[in-house]
Amino acid sequence: MRLRNIPGSREAIASSDFVIHEDVMTKKKGHWNEVFGNSLPIYIEVGMGKGQFITRMASMHPDRNFIGIEKYSSVLIRALEKREQMTDLHNLYFLRMEAEDLPQVFAPGEAAGIYLNFSDPWPKDRHAKRRLPSKEFLARYDQILAPEGRIEFKTDNRDLFKFSLEQAEEAGWTVEQLTWDLHHDPAMMEGNVMTEYEERFSAKGNPIHKVILRR
Ligand code: SAM
Repeated sequence: MRLRNIPGSREAIASSDFVIHEDVMTKKKGHWNEVFGNSLPIYIEVGMGKGQFITRMASMHPDRNFIGIEKYSSVLIRALEKREQMTDLHNLYFLRMEAEDLPQVFAPGEAAGIYLNFSDPWPKDRHAKRRLPSKEFLARYDQILAPEGRIEFKTDNRDLFKFSLEQAEEAGWTVEQLTWDLHHDPAMMEGNVMTEYEERFSAKGNPIHKVILRR
């Protein structure tokens, strides 16, 4: 994703009630349901970008809680602008954080599900560990995901998708569902919510790949 510094984004994020701030984030570990004020399951999108997917998911699923994670303020601010138009939503918060720190922020089993959408490909081999579906990241998700929890990964990047399947197998995850062409797979397409990247790449004719992993 091309990044532009957006003046004022840090300040807007710091003063927003929809963002749980860095100084208190780790104190919420094991207590995220108190943040929402209910005991509904918590779903996390890692690398949410501008937040279209998670804001739509939150409005479609009032029986679930959602947390969107994004490492850059200049990107998170775009999600926050969407969120601020939806003040009647009570089931969506954002965290500006690096996904490597997930086990410091969430307790074992605290995430009911994890979404990875169009994660950065990091094409150089020496950067493989930075890919969000790598086995290093799968080990982090393993620490916070509920026993019956699923990881759902979508991308149009064939190499990254193949890599994710290899890594999942190596790390002992089971493929529950898989498609190389989501938009022509009626069963897996049911309830699909498009991300910003998904709209852009499917409009170019790129097939979208999706896998659902469980332990
Ligand atoms: N999920 C969105 C979509 O499908 O439209 C955005 C995709 S964009 C290619 C990937 C996003 O993940 C970027 O906004 C990037 O900053 C964020 N990201 C990448 N690595 C991350 C990490 N380690 N921790 C948190 N966010 C990350």
